[in-house]
Order: sequence, then structure tokens, then C-alpha cells
Amino acid sequence: AKDKGKNSVCFYTSDINDRLHHYQKIAMTLHNALSDDTLQLYFQPQIDLNDGHILSCEALLRCSDNNSQPIPPDVFIPVAEKSGLINRIGNWVIEAACQQLVAWKGTALENVRIDINLSGKQLTNPNLAEQILKTLHQHELRPSQLGVELTENEVIGGDNVQIGQLETLKNAGVHISIDDFGTGYSSLVYLSKLPVCSLKIDRSFLVHAMENESDMAIMKAIINVGHSLGLTVVVEGVETIEQDKLVKSLGCDLAQGYLYARPMPADKMPEYLYDILPK
Ligand code: C2E
Ligand code: CA
Ligand code: CA
Ligand code: CA
Repeated sequence: AKDKGKNSVCFYTSDINDRLHHYQKIAMTLHNALSDDTLQLYFQPQIDLNDGHILSCEALLRCSDNNSQPIPPDVFIPVAEKSGLINRIGNWVIEAACQQLVAWKGTALENVRIDINLSGKQLTNPNLAEQILKTLHQHELRPSQLGVELTENEVIGGDNVQIGQLETLKNAGVHISIDDFGTGYSSLVYLSKLPVCSLKIDRSFLVHAMENESDMAIMKAIINVGHSLGLTVVVEGVETIEQDKLVKSLGCDLAQGYLYARPMPADKMPEYLYDILPK
């Protein structure tokens, strides 16, 4: 029995070592990606369900390891947050989004807003709002050309400084979205007090709404509450024509998902735009 105990301790330790090794490898990859400037933004259109035009697109960060294998953001973002690299990475994203908006000036994409994802950690920097507005100004961009997405849990539990920063951004005209809505813990009362413009309903609701009535009821309720609070309602993860029909019939304002387009590098966007134009 003693031996067994010793063995299981061994397994446990090697498991921790593996995880530490994995973590350090990713942290190092992120560090190198920043210094070699190899991070990349992909863009995924958000479609206005009333007329099919691209209102905005979400900027999704991409990072590859030494062998050019992509590391999923769900894996590297938590490492960036724990290692403290998230602020540098976040600043890189803000700058890259602004540069893209500049590059789209005078093209068919010039009225498309770019929505970046913010980590709650970034919002604890009391200068974040000011810095975002300054970067927009330096590139001669209007604040309304940029949007930020935050999950409920990153906003709640935040103190007045964090809410204050969102207020500064919103008052300046930056679009604010609550991401993955419905999966967190915010109450509707709380939501009504937040400086937000849009709700993005988490993909899991759409998947389940197709299957059972109570999830359908929840989805309808979220859309109604969103609208009665004067918010735009976006649904993410639309993959099928049936889902597209459903979200249209429920009165969602915007949709995003593989059915319309997968996230793509910026240079593929004009092609995509051309493909969806009526011919
Ligand atoms: P998110 O903000 O909820 O982004 C949406 C995710 O859903 C993206 O995954 C997107 O590729 C994926 N997606 C879009 N349409 C569909 C669909 O129809 N079906 C399915 N199954 N998936 C769809 P991605 O790019 O892997 O990003 C994962 C998460 O990583 C994001 O979730 C976001 O939380 C985080 N992330 C990505 N870029 C950044 C960033 O620049 N900063 C921060 N802080 N987080 C980021
Ligand atoms: Ca998002
Ligand atoms: Ca989301
Ligand atoms: Ca998510």
C-alpha cells in the first residue's frame, strides 16, 4: 500500500511537471511572437440580419509555435493572463486593429467596425481607456470604428475604476459588447446599469435551442430583455441554415458564425465581400 502511495505521488509530480513545461513553452512562444512580431489577427464578419451587410468584424488573435502549428487562443490567452504578458499582447491587438482600420480606408471595408476582445486583466490598467482613445486618435480614426468585447464575469466583480473606463470608452463612441452572454453570473438588474451597447449570446444557447424548448425559451427571453434595455443582440456560432432561420425569426439583430464566414486573415476579406455581393 505504501508503494502504491509513493507511485501515485510520482505520477502526480510528473503531471505537474508536464503542465509546468507546457505552460513555460507557451509563455516562451508568446514572448517570442511579441519580439518577432509574428502574432496575427484574423477577422470574422458580423452580419446584419436585416439586410445581410457586414456591420463589423471580430478580431481574433492567432499565434503559432516554432513548427508553425497554430496554438488555440483558448490555450494561449490564459497563459498570457497568468504570465502577465496579456497587457503587451493586448496593446499589440489594439495597435494592429487600428492599423487594419487605416488600411481599409478608401476601400469597400472602410465602414466596417473592428471589435477586439479585452481580457479582464487589461481593464485593471487604469489608463486603458485613455490609451485606446489615444491610439485611435494617432491613427486619425473615429472611436466608433472600434468596439471592445468583454465577458460578463470580467466586468462584474470589477470595481468602479473598471466600470469607469468602460464609461469613458462608451461616451467617446467606442462600441461595447458583453461577450458569451448567458454563461456568466450577472443579473439583469446589473446589466441595465452597465455601459454596454450589445449582448452577444453564447453559442451554447443556440445549439441547445434547436433541441429543447426550455433553452429556446431562455434564448427568447435574452433577446427580449436585451431589446427592452435598448441593446443590440448578436448571436454567435451560426453554422446551419436552420439556425440562421431561427435567429432571424427570433429577432436577433446580428449574427456571426461559420455559415457566413470563418475567421480569416485581413487579405481574404475583400474576396469574401465580393463573394457575398449580389451578382
Ligand atoms: P470568443 O470571443 O467567444 O470568440 C468566438 C470564438 O468562436 C472564436 O474562437 C471563433 O473562431 C469561434 N467561432 C466563430 N463562429 C463559430 C461557429 O460558427 N462555430 C463554432 N464552433 N465556433 C465559432 P477562437 O478564435 O478560437 O477564439 C477563442 C477565444 O479566445 C475567444 O472566444 C476569446 O475569448 C479568446 N480570444 C481570441 N482573441 C483574443 C484576443 O485578442 N484577446 C483576448 N483577450 N482574448 C481573445
Ligand atoms: Ca469575443
Ligand atoms: Ca463569444
Ligand atoms: Ca468564448
